[in-house]
Amino acid sequence: MKIRCKNCYRVLNPNEEYCTNCGEHSARMQQAMLTGNYGPDATGKLKIALTIFGIAGFIICGLLQVVFALIENKINDGNGYTNLFCESNSLFYSSILTIIITLVVFRKDLKDYFPTINKKQLLGSILIAILVSAIVIILTNLSNFTLLFPKYIVNYLKTDDKVFFDIVGSCIFKIVIGAILVGISVEILGHKYLVDALDETLLGDKAIYFITVIASTFMEVIWIMSIDVLVVSLIINLATTGIYMYTNRNLLINIIMRVLITIIAVVIFII
Ligand SMILES: [Zn+2]
Repeated sequence: MKIRCKNCYRVLNPNEEYCTNCGEHSARMQQAMLTGNYGPDATGKLKIALTIFGIAGFIICGLLQVVFALIENKINDGNGYTNLFCESNSLFYSSILTIIITLVVFRKDLKDYFPTINKKQLLGSILIAILVSAIVIILTNLSNFTLLFPKYIVNYLKTDDKVFFDIVGSCIFKIVIGAILVGISVEILGHKYLVDALDETLLGDKAIYFITVIASTFMEVIWIMSIDVLVVSLIINLATTGIYMYTNRNLLINIIMRVLITIIAVVIFII
């Protein structure tokens, strides 16, 4: 982990307790020299996070789509498969797998996910979360290009054929759980570990913000494999990346926001 000079922001060399550029004392470097702990390796963790996403969220999700296409084709006596069946199942199982791997691999970091927020940060981020949730709910009911879920899922939720739970087929339960867990995975893998790693670079907060927004939106759209969700995903990531960086790197409000948006959107579609 890089330790910076508080005064001139230069990256200090190991054991450089006093900045050789400006002479400022670094309490962090002093602490690191005493304990031998130079802090977590943020770049290494980002690589692990992206690997988990790449394998579970991308490769395994893709493989599952093929498997479910074959299963559905067999159920239909060779009459093909539907996006709804393959995607809602593959998103459901790949998101569960991703969350389990993430929680196991990063279990030691867990307590740091929810650092304390002050009242001002809490109030500000709740206001942004409510505003963005309202915008997303309106957009997803407004046009087919600004959806929270791919179009075939929205169409399914609006039909009379929908069921709450089905072990083999598509169901509301799998859609809701899949959407929530994909969102939480993007929060942890795409926001937390990317921002942590970018914090180590010379980039300013604005650059870190925009890189994180673009990268996490890309991850989400690639995983869901639908361009229908691009606009809404971008809006959500603009808000959640901002909230995360503004609230001492706290993921709690983002996770609550994603759960609520998903549930409210589904309830509106099915009633
Ligand atoms: Zn300095």
